[in-house]
Formats: sequence, C-alpha cells, structure tokens
Amino acid sequence: MHNKDMEKRTLGKTGLEVSIIGFGGFHLVEIPFSKAKRLLNRYLDEGGNYIETAESYGDGISEQKIGKAVSGRRSDFILATKTTARTGKEAMAALHGSLKRLKTDYVDIWFMHAVQTEEEAEAILAPGGAMEAVLKARNEGKVRFAGITGHGKPAGLIPAVKDYNYDVLMTGLNFFDRFNFPGIEDSLLPLCVKKKTAILAMKVLADGYLFRSPETAIRYTLRLPVASLVLGINRMEYLEKDMEIVRTKTALDNEELEETFEKSVELGDYVCRLCGKCKNTKSIDPMEVFLLEGIYDRQMNDYRVPDPQEYALRERLKFWFDQKELAQSTYLKVMKKVDTEKDYSYLNKLCPYGIDIDRKLKIAHSKLAGTSYIF
Ligand code: SF4
Repeated sequence: MHNKDMEKRTLGKTGLEVSIIGFGGFHLVEIPFSKAKRLLNRYLDEGGNYIETAESYGDGISEQKIGKAVSGRRSDFILATKTTARTGKEAMAALHGSLKRLKTDYVDIWFMHAVQTEEEAEAILAPGGAMEAVLKARNEGKVRFAGITGHGKPAGLIPAVKDYNYDVLMTGLNFFDRFNFPGIEDSLLPLCVKKKTAILAMKVLADGYLFRSPETAIRYTLRLPVASLVLGINRMEYLEKDMEIVRTKTALDNEELEETFEKSVELGDYVCRLCGKCKNTKSIDPMEVFLLEGIYDRQMNDYRVPDPQEYALRERLKFWFDQKELAQSTYLKVMKKVDTEKDYSYLNKLCPYGIDIDRKLKIAHSKLAGTSYIF
C-alpha cells in the first residue's frame, strides 16, 4: 500500500510543491543498482518527490542509476541535476549528457554547482557564461528553473544571489557547521528570503559527522526557512528513519536548541559557539581566530584521538570544502596573530562551553600559520 503523506512545502517562486525530504543522489554511486532502484522507488511510493543528482557524482553514474531506476515514473518527481561548467558551451554539453543519462528530456532544476567564489559567480553571468546555457535550455524546455549551490563559507553564494534572481539555492545547513560558516544563516538565508529564492538544505548531518544525532540534526534544520531537506540516502533503514523523524517530530524549540548547543557531543568542548564572551580588548579576539579555524578545517582537528573511527571520519571531512588557503591568507594578511609563547589561559574561565581557549588558540594558530602544533 502506498502511503503518500510526506509533508510538502512550496519551493519559493517556482510554485512547485516539494516533499520535506529530498533524495540526494550522491550516495547512489556507492551501492549496487538493484539497491538504488529499491530505495528510489520506496522513496517515491512514500510521497517523496524530489530527486537530485549531479553530472559529477561518480562521473555520471548517479544520473545513470536514477535514469534507469525511475525514468519510467518521471511525472512523479521533481528532478534536479547540476553542472560545474562555467561557460555556456561547456554547460550546454554537460546538460545534454545529463539528460541522456537521466533518460528524460527535461530537468526541473538545473544547478550551477559548487559556486565557491565571487569570481565563479561572476563567470557564470558573464557574456559566454553558463547562464546563457540556462536561459537557452529554458527556452527549449530542457530546464524549468535555475538553481545554485555552494559549500562552506558563502563567499560565492552571497554575491551570486545578489546579482541574479536564482529560483532555488541549496547549501549546507546543520547545527555543527552553523558555527563554522555563520554567514550562511546570518546573511545568506535572509537574503534568499528577501529575494524569494527557495532554500534547500543539504549536509543536514554535516557529511555524516552528526551520525550519532540524526534526529537532532534534522529537527535543527527544520527550524530554518527551508523548503526541503535533501538527505544523502544509501540504506533503507536510513530512509525509513528519516521519514519517521519528519512524520513524527517537529523542529527543535528554543530550549532544545540551547541544549543542543550546550551538550552536543559533536560540538563538545572544542567547537567555538561564537558567543563572544571571551572578547578581551587588550588581547586578540579568540572568536575571530576560531572563525577562521572553522573555515580552515571546520574545527574538526582538536588533536585528541578518543576514538580512531571518529578520528578517521574527521580526517576525511575536515577539508571537504577546500577553503583552507582562504582561511590562512586572511589570517596572515589581516589578523592580529596569536602569540604562541603567551599564556592565554586567563580567558578559559570566560567560556560557558568549557573550551580551553589557550590551547585552542595555539592549535588554531598552527593551522592558520602553517606551523606545527606539538601535543
Ligand atoms: S567564550 Fe567560548 S564559545 Fe564564546 S566565543 Fe569565546 S571560545 Fe567561543
């Protein structure tokens, strides 16, 4: 029996009604086709209606699996794919490849993928840029709406949304990276709301780092002005669990939010919550340094190894967004430097989250200045 009761929300000015869980297709590259087919069909049977992929996922393998598995029920879902091409010519060729692999003649949303810098945002809109392909494809009925995605610090997304009326934006939104890339929630989301650009959340579990707290992670992101949570799904039990959470739980309330910030095992006594209580005008501002550390490696390397598996996961995820040079050059150019000979431990008592500010400052300095930290 089909149970089509998954909540739907309006996808901004597209007017599409999108299910609260979107199916992120990246992880389909990791599983055999038979499993991918079962998962995708189960998701659609349960009322899910947003399937998303990218030409780059497994070099087209994700698109191929989706095309083979569900193109026969194309009218049941909103389909999105992405390209990293920045010129019109390359983008158009990429779109034709995507359509072929997806076994369809149109995608609902075509994303300009991984726009990390202002220069990239400009290149897309420049004469001969990828936006020309978007407009042409729209006229030809191959694409319905224009989207944009970016990861980590929204250095490319903010100017992009300011300069062009994208229909849909997708970016990482979770309670961990909230403290690494605060500009997303503080500046980018209000800008999207103002411009009526629909918001899709990805990386709700911080690329899997919040694996111990899926319910809290989902309920956190449900607080934000998002149309859908695009979740990476590669196991039936995850799909079932995710669906159960959105069916039975609501967004975190303020008290639960505070509790998460205070007690979450992932934030622990290392991730700076950006509360500003340790600001000391006579010394450096630790929060400013930790903000750069967040961009550098998402504050994932705390030089402790309580559990080898978790350590390996952090090692894999810490440079996921490739913005370490941006953090280093900002530190070296404009920041007052941490004095590694100085004892800053008098600041420790100011931190409500128990962070050893002295130790963390020295770790952050070693990362940002490219020196060694001996522990
Ligand atoms: S007091 Fe702690 S949480 Fe607040 S800004 Fe300073 S280090 Fe970060």
